[in-house]
Amino acid sequence: MSEQTTPANTASNAGSNATGNAASNVPSDKNHLILTGDRPTGPLHLGHFVGSLRNRVKYQSQYKQFIMLADAQALTDNMDDPAKVHNNVLEVALDYLAVGIDPAQSTIFIQSQIPELTELTFYYLNLVTVARLERNPTIKQEILLRNFERDIPAGFLTYPVSQAADITAFKASLVPVGEDQIPMIEQTNEIVRRFNRLAKRDILVEAQALVPEIGRLPGIDGKAKMSKSLGNTINLGATSAEIKAAVKMVYTDPLHLRVEDPGHLEGNVAFIYLDAFDTDKEGLQAMKEHYVRGGLGDGMVKKRLEGILQDMLAPIRERRQEYEKDRGQVLQMLKQGTERAREIAARTTDEVKAAIGLKHF
Ligand code: ATP
Ligand code: MG
Repeated sequence: MSEQTTPANTASNAGSNATGNAASNVPSDKNHLILTGDRPTGPLHLGHFVGSLRNRVKYQSQYKQFIMLADAQALTDNMDDPAKVHNNVLEVALDYLAVGIDPAQSTIFIQSQIPELTELTFYYLNLVTVARLERNPTIKQEILLRNFERDIPAGFLTYPVSQAADITAFKASLVPVGEDQIPMIEQTNEIVRRFNRLAKRDILVEAQALVPEIGRLPGIDGKAKMSKSLGNTINLGATSAEIKAAVKMVYTDPLHLRVEDPGHLEGNVAFIYLDAFDTDKEGLQAMKEHYVRGGLGDGMVKKRLEGILQDMLAPIRERRQEYEKDRGQVLQMLKQGTERAREIAARTTDEVKAAIGLKHF
């Protein structure tokens, strides 16, 4: 499956090189370290797959990679249902293994089990203003989406700071994320610069977002983002019947009423998914031309899409079922990963504390 990756600052130029080689845009420095993660609020879906998981699988052999199950962050808008977050930690870990994240190459860990991350957050909170947090475009949008209005949990408003703690604790320089996370990396880098100025040396490291060309996958309902909270997903562990049902519901072109009508590709989710997952680019191009010309029904497009998704997701689902048989072993893997990650976070926290006069003994 071909995929292009561009550093965030050049993401707007990505379209000019749709089949380009991803590696050409990724810094080649072997010393890069990757930090990424997910909120364990539900099963992972195709949006995560294109937004971040594919890059993680791709780069895990090249760079040191840390992957975080952000359970503490997930609580910032799920404190009314901590059991959901708890249970999804293992579910998301199973999704990771199923898509091919290899614990021998990537360190997978649980955020809440590393108190140093909370500690760093507490210090970094003094390096941002409330106004700056309120201006963060991702936060602004998420507040609207969650109908918080004025009742924003303070933890939610400040989660970009906790994300800065996560990234900097590992001195990560690359962060593979979906497009919606770019403002988070910008906010992290502001904190890094302010801290390093304060410390008068470069203790923390600025990070670069690695955003795939398809930086955001829309939901099956046509909404701009496929998202757990919006219930418009196709999950990576979906059964064959679920995939079939979901593809039937995929939003296409509302003006394409009869087969002979010319169809539109813009905003047509079936074609956006085909762009993301169909490896036969020539066949796809021919199908697009036919659709635009008229004479091709949505049913045919969806048939192609369903076949591709069934083929792509079947091995993922089967691997998931294998790992599910021994949840104890998956938990053990998380424990080891968390211990490894904590050592690194503790080292950075020591440096940070020393730099701001918090080392007394
Ligand atoms: P929630 O609704 O609970 O916020 P989510 O579906 O947005 O869940 P997150 O755990 O917040 O998922 O996101 C994890 C990572 O996956 C982030 O890097 C995010 O950018 C990426 N991601 C999530 N949804 C999509 C999507 N539809 N397209 C591309 N990337 C996505
Ligand atoms: Mg999200």
